Amino acid sequence: MDISVVVPLYNEEESLPELHAWIKRVMDENKFSYEIIFVNDGSKDRSWDVIEELSRKFPEVHGIKFRRNYGKSPALYHGFARAQGDVVITMDADLQDSPDEIPELYRMIMEDGYDLVSGYKQKRYDPLSKTIPTKLFNATARKVSGIKNLHDFNCGLKSYRKDVVKNIEVYGEMHRYIPYLAKNAGFDKIGEKVVHHQARKYGKTKFGLNRFVNGYLDLLSLWFLSSFGQQPMHVFGFIGSLMFIIGFIAVIVVGVLKLIALSKGVYGFLVTDSPYFYIALTMMLLGTQLFVAGFLGEMISRNSEERNKYQVEKEV
Ligand code: UDP
Ligand code: MG
Repeated sequence: MDISVVVPLYNEEESLPELHAWIKRVMDENKFSYEIIFVNDGSKDRSWDVIEELSRKFPEVHGIKFRRNYGKSPALYHGFARAQGDVVITMDADLQDSPDEIPELYRMIMEDGYDLVSGYKQKRYDPLSKTIPTKLFNATARKVSGIKNLHDFNCGLKSYRKDVVKNIEVYGEMHRYIPYLAKNAGFDKIGEKVVHHQARKYGKTKFGLNRFVNGYLDLLSLWFLSSFGQQPMHVFGFIGSLMFIIGFIAVIVVGVLKLIALSKGVYGFLVTDSPYFYIALTMMLLGTQLFVAGFLGEMISRNSEERNKYQVEKEV
């Protein structure tokens, strides 16, 4: 099979028939063999009935129904697990992404050799309250992930080589950083294609402003996991030791100052009068704590199921 289209959706009943007809038209025109996997993320409207109806009429339409709303990442995760096409394309259900982009996204994977191609909504039809923070968000994501050529990490329209989706784990709200997940798994041929974007036709956006707060926190944990996830002691132990050494030097300074004072016969000089006393106190306490955090981190990572999960590309 050439293409699997994975569509996560939450309350998008009005859009579905139109989206399906559009995808079908593009696929038929290009003679692709394909499947469409609608992942119904606990919709409260008639979305699931629509999907069932479509799949009765069209054998290439499949559906997965969550019992409740879990989020876009879990929906993608299940869609990816089910996908069988050589190329997997993800697309939002709200008709903001255009299925007309599919043939080129497919070609870039198959012919240009990309592992992942992300859409880039150069001209967006979203409110300013969303586009400006998005710019900032993408700039940060580019810096932290080291994927310098992407302008739009969170674009719902993306295509993947099948290997990619089978070897990454999209969890929590990590759908914003799939290119980063792919890169960490060793898929580093990541490209971009400018895509058409349209205003939402039906319904309204499912993400509020907290997307940006959560987005930054997720980026931070991804960065930490990919840099130190396997060896937490390297970061905590290093900072901890450094602080402890500074604290220790401060202790010596305090001691020497006290001795000098004593030798001069000044008995009123208290160690707590010296700023070094407080430096010594905080540095040694914090240093020890960080050290302990490092040990705990090591123990946790030693017990984690991921500890021996490495990407083996081929064996003969
Ligand atoms: N979506 C989902 N689960 C959720 C929230 C959203 O499956 O909990 C789907 C939604 O139905 C749409 C896609 O994710 O197909 C993108 O959502 P939306 O269009 O609301 O995001 P925006 O375009 O505003 O970034
Ligand atoms: Mg949308």
